[in-house]
Amino acid sequence: MPTIIPIPAFTDNYIWLVREGAFAAVVDPGDAGPVLAYLEREGLTLTAIVNTHHHGDHVGGNAALLARFAVPVYGPARETIPGRTHALAEGDEIAVPGPELALRVLDVPGHTAGHIAYVGASQQPPVAFVGDTLFAGGCGRLFEGTPAQMSASLGKLAALPGDTLAYCAHEYTLANLRFALAVEPGNAALRERLAREQAKRDRGVPTVPSSIADERATNPFLRADIPAVAAAAETHAGRKLRDAVETFAVLREWKNTFR
Ligand SMILES: [Zn+2]
Repeated sequence: MPTIIPIPAFTDNYIWLVREGAFAAVVDPGDAGPVLAYLEREGLTLTAIVNTHHHGDHVGGNAALLARFAVPVYGPARETIPGRTHALAEGDEIAVPGPELALRVLDVPGHTAGHIAYVGASQQPPVAFVGDTLFAGGCGRLFEGTPAQMSASLGKLAALPGDTLAYCAHEYTLANLRFALAVEPGNAALRERLAREQAKRDRGVPTVPSSIADERATNPFLRADIPAVAAAAETHAGRKLRDAVETFAVLREWKNTFR
């Protein structure tokens, strides 16, 4: 069974490195520098690059890694990915070379138009590399998609088994949970989680990955159909909202300006 290691990059990104034996695959290497330093230090050979979407802080390191290691690059079919060798869409299954890692692809548009996620159902517990779609306690901004697309994408991730560990690409958790608490001040699981994640940050430990069960219980963007969440969104918007997609849209706008 491979081990999944966070490699911090830029100010708050995580590049996920999946290692087993002498081999490693990387997910969303926005910067080659810290990946190459880790490979060198640990004596590992890179065997694959896995990308979720086209943003520079996710693919910016592809070229420099490919200059050192001629490896396959897995990425979304509908986006421009540097060096891509395997163009993927929902339902595709890949066996990543190197570490034992079998992944299934989900289309999760919204943050970008072609964003994909990868689910490793054979890992124990199962894993999901979710890029900038689902964050711990939150979700990505809608740069290229609609609220309807994003809420459907998040719904797919929320439907994964509760013990699935979601590996997102940023350490945004505490800010996300503070917003969540403004939406749902009466959610006891959320208060407990905020304290738990704050304790991790106080020790300098990542709050990611998080379990899908925790996200369902505390992430407002997965809870637009919960009456308390819908009521909070209506109060914020000052009008009646038709359905969970409208609630989601209001939450996303609210979060954009929340401090
Ligand atoms: Zn992004």
